[in-house]
Parts: sequence; C-alpha cells; structure tokens
Amino acid sequence: MAYDLVIKNGTIITCNLNFDIIRNGFIGMSDGRIQGIGPAEKIRPQDNSAQIIDAQGGFIVPGLINTHTHLPMTIFRGLADDLPLQTWLQEYIFPAEAEYIRSETVKIGASLACAEMILSGTTTCCDGYFFENEIAQTVQTAGLRAILGQGVIDFPAPGVPDPAQNVTQAIKFMDRWKNNTPLIIPSVFCHTPYTCTPDTLESAKQAAIERNLLFQIHAAETQEEWQQFQSKHHTTPVQFLDRLNLLDENTLLVHAIWVNDLDIETIASCKATISHNPQSNMKLASGIAPVTQFLAAGIAVGIGTDGCASNNDLDLLAEMDSAAKLHKVRLSDPTVMDAATVLHMATLGGAKALGLEDEIGSLEIGKQADIIIIDCQKPHLFPAYHPVSHLVYAANGADVRDVLVAGKLLMQNRKLLTLDIEAIMRAANNLKENVRQ
Ligand SMILES: [Zn+2]
Repeated sequence: MAYDLVIKNGTIITCNLNFDIIRNGFIGMSDGRIQGIGPAEKIRPQDNSAQIIDAQGGFIVPGLINTHTHLPMTIFRGLADDLPLQTWLQEYIFPAEAEYIRSETVKIGASLACAEMILSGTTTCCDGYFFENEIAQTVQTAGLRAILGQGVIDFPAPGVPDPAQNVTQAIKFMDRWKNNTPLIIPSVFCHTPYTCTPDTLESAKQAAIERNLLFQIHAAETQEEWQQFQSKHHTTPVQFLDRLNLLDENTLLVHAIWVNDLDIETIASCKATISHNPQSNMKLASGIAPVTQFLAAGIAVGIGTDGCASNNDLDLLAEMDSAAKLHKVRLSDPTVMDAATVLHMATLGGAKALGLEDEIGSLEIGKQADIIIIDCQKPHLFPAYHPVSHLVYAANGADVRDVLVAGKLLMQNRKLLTLDIEAIMRAANNLKENVRQ
C-alpha cells in the first residue's frame, strides 16, 4: 500500500506496550491510519511519492489524551484563584456560569481551548459541560478527536433551566452525535454524586448503557464530600455509586482522591476507570489521589487538566511533570511514577481509561494517525539522553511543532491550520471586559 503521508527523520516514542523507541524512524500513513512504522532504512523507495514531513531530529509521539476538561471554562481562566473548592464554586464559578454561559460564549471558550490544546500537543479530550452541542461543533471545526458529555446536574443549569429535563437533554445530545462524525463520540457527564439525585444518576447511566457510551462523573474529590457521604449515607462516595450499580468499564471517575482500600478494590473489580487531575487537585487543595495504588490494582488511569478555572491551562506536558513529582513527594520516594509510567497515562493509559485503546494512544500499525512532533532544537532539550525523560520533565506545550489527527495536519510549524487564533483571542478578550464588569 502506498502512503499518502510520511513522517521521517525523528525519534519515535511509540508508547506501545513494550514502550519501543525507534531512533531515526519513519511513519507512513494512509486513509488516516498508520500503515508503516520502523527505522528509516526500511522505508520503501515508492514511499517518497507521499507528502513528507521532516521531523528534523525531533520526537515523534502519539497525540496526548486529556481525559478531563470543561472546554468553555477557558473564559474564566484566572477569574478567581486561591480559594477553597466550595467558595470557588458557589461564590464565583456557578454565578459566573449562570450569567455568562450561553451558546455564543461557549463557542468562544471552546475555540480558545481547542487552539490551546492543538498548540500544546493534545489530540483527544474528554469533556463534560453544558451547551455540549456547540462544543461538539467547535471541536469538529478544529479537527480534534473528543468524547463529549452533556452535563447533568439537579439544579437549573446553563441551557437547562429545568432540572427535570437534564437527562432528556443528555439523551438528545447522545442520539444526535452517535455515529454522526468519526472524530466525536458522545457521552453523558453527571456533575457529582451529591449534585445529582440517585434517580438522576441511575437514569443517566441507563441511557449511557443503552447506547454503549461513556458515563463520566466527578467523584470523591474533597474531604467535605467524603464527610457528607459518611454522615448522610454511612458510606463512601465510591461505595454509594457502586450501590447504585453505576460502576463498570464504561464509567470514568474523575479525581477519586478520597478513597479507601475497599473503594480501590471495588473500582478495580468493576473495571471502572479514573481521570487523575494533579494540578487542579493541588490548586484547590483537594488532596492527592492514590494513583500508584490504582495502577498496582490494575485500574486504567489517564491524566486530565480539568477546566481552565482550576488549573489554569490545558498543557498536558506540564500536567505530566506535575503528576510525576506530586506522587514522589506524597510517598517520599523518587522512584515512583517514573517518566514512562506518566507518559503512558497521557497516551495509551488515557486511551484505555476512555475505552479507545484499540484506536489511539500509541504509534502502531492500524491505529489512527494521531501524532505530534516535538521540536528538539531548543536549549532546554539539549543534550537528549532519554527522550521519555525530556518529554515528562523538560518539554512544554510550546515545543510542539506539528499536530496530526487521523492523518490530517491541524498544526504545521506552529501555525494552526483549522482555527483563526487571532479572531478567537480577540473574542475572548472582548468577553473578558463584560465578565470583569
Ligand atoms: Zn472537572
């Protein structure tokens, strides 16, 4: 088979199960999938007829996977910092959302987020918010891959003024986007086990089961949530979800900080998965998820940034650095969460947490050509003994040079090809003037 696109002259970090690294490698692709991968000497003469991208000695890496975002929240970046979660949420974020989240502002925020993700090497995100139709249209324009969940909460919410309609709206969203376009997979996103009633949680999960789609939920994020479940239900948030039969391989638990050994056993035996959001958890002082125990129990764990109001960016390279270091400090052990483990979480592990490991997360024949190239001609990336170490501990989002999703270039030489970044930043800035007033 002839390739329509070839990347060559770089170090390929495959992120496959062997974690193979191919120096001076090439990747050939056609129809959006990887059809050939190996050392440069194996490239066939006819492959030179394809479009060629010269990686110029950079790292060729699977596109990064952000397992938890609220894309439109970029418009609240830096609006309220250094506050406890409940104060931040109740006094700033919920009121700001009630006032400013509309279909137009969601599009601005999501466009800004898509631009930021492409510029920092993310090719897939898993999002949960309101006005998710508008987010889906924006992500589709950007050319990114995404799992998108319409938000469900038992309060009046942006775009869903009547909470009695929340699950119905989520079902409409899933039915509209299921099998609609190859890069977007719909999902349902329940806010938390305490802001949704058991009835709501059960019917949202049932709707996801009937459609074989992902059910996402923030769970066990704060000590307050833990105490609330202890006093109200005499159990933990995770056991509460398990009693409602909400945990299975299509359930993504976001945060999972306040968990005990039984909770970890439950999550593992139900095959539920976890999104770990170290920077958001640090910023809101929510605590530290026991990720090393999750991994030891065989739970699929991905990395997420959370929304931009609690991070405050979508740079997964920076998130990997935080993930690696946070657990070393927690356990007073520099050997835990080594660079390869963390990179796995941002690639194939994240894919597994989202149920997409057969399609994305590693550079292997047959997989989707979701690929990023890191420009290594930077002083902070010299000398390069270990490429994986550089990716986790030295590189940052601005080092990403090219980005492809399904074999299509979304960024080349740091120029965005699908989005007008100047117009997006202008719109975000105009919006800021309103929000500030
Ligand atoms: Zn979140």
